[in-house]
Amino acid sequence: MRVSGLRWTTYRLPFRAEFATSRGAFAHREGLILRLHTDSGIVGLGEAAPIAERGRGTLSEALAVLDEVGAAFVGKPLDEVPAFLDETGRGRGDGAVAAVRCALDVAVCDAMARAAGTSVAELLAGDVNRSLAVNATIGTGAPIQAAAQAAAARESGFGCVKLKVGAARSGDEERRRVAAVRQALGNGIRLRIDANGAWGVEQAIRAVRELEEYDLEMVEQPVAAGDLPGLARVRAAVDVPIAADEDVTDVEAAERVLEAGAADVLVVKPMVVGGLHPARRIIDLAAVAGVEVVVTTTIDAGIGTAAALHLAATLPPGGPACGLATGSLLADDLITRPLVARCGRMGLPDGPGLGVELDEGQLARYGGGVEREIS
Ligand SMILES: [Mg+2]
Repeated sequence: MRVSGLRWTTYRLPFRAEFATSRGAFAHREGLILRLHTDSGIVGLGEAAPIAERGRGTLSEALAVLDEVGAAFVGKPLDEVPAFLDETGRGRGDGAVAAVRCALDVAVCDAMARAAGTSVAELLAGDVNRSLAVNATIGTGAPIQAAAQAAAARESGFGCVKLKVGAARSGDEERRRVAAVRQALGNGIRLRIDANGAWGVEQAIRAVRELEEYDLEMVEQPVAAGDLPGLARVRAAVDVPIAADEDVTDVEAAERVLEAGAADVLVVKPMVVGGLHPARRIIDLAAVAGVEVVVTTTIDAGIGTAAALHLAATLPPGGPACGLATGSLLADDLITRPLVARCGRMGLPDGPGLGVELDEGQLARYGGGVEREIS
């Protein structure tokens, strides 16, 4: 089976309510949907949604990368594409390249799994969990708002909640936020916090020590990406497990985090690390190092979410909840049957490949104005 053509369309989906992290407040999520046509008539789906707000590339850059490299994929046998992707944009070190690689890798996996009558998860690994624990996500809103969202998550049956921190005006305000969320959750629900790199090393150590009485499951990226010695110092100074997220930008970066002993947990986002194959390599490296993995979306539309869900299904059972219940943060979706959490769990959709179908009507409705095709 060979690639016979590529077609991509941009989208712009509004958040249900403005979503705030220590990096700012966001009203929209934009990206592109890729259809990979094959000479057997099977079409694989992928999505590229770079995170411009984190300096991880813009959608226009992703479009420029696709314009530049897309034609080279036409005519290639599908099973040669993943190795070819390793060389795509090599050295550019750009999140837009990673997002395009993710879209192509996912579309190839979707087409290959559809052709084989199996799921993408089963294509990637032998043992697959069809039902996964997932966390709810709460932004950096005021204590009363955060507590209301925590109560809603508890009532929906979530067993784990992630609270964004690092934007409070003072340590005291942050403490009140975390205390209010813990109180709303009660004792049985796991609570993890995510600073998105907002704190300095000493500030992080102080904050985590102050907040650990609220029974924190883990702290994500307490200090800025790139400071692995600092992250390792925080990890050594506190009892709460430390997760690296913004530091996990590709396979080599994940290796550096593991070598530095800087984290107990790696957060792996297929959109950031360049697709499902590099993400699987990171999961294997983490397993060897005895480090747990949380797979998350980058708050994508349904195709990107489905890809992350299939990747998460290949994790060893019993690990921490994954960040896949993010579709509800957006006002709408681009697939016919959106992937939603029920009682804190998400199931792999039935059907071959990603198990999801693109809703062309929705894509037209939320289209971002760019549509291109090569064959
Ligand atoms: Mg994070």
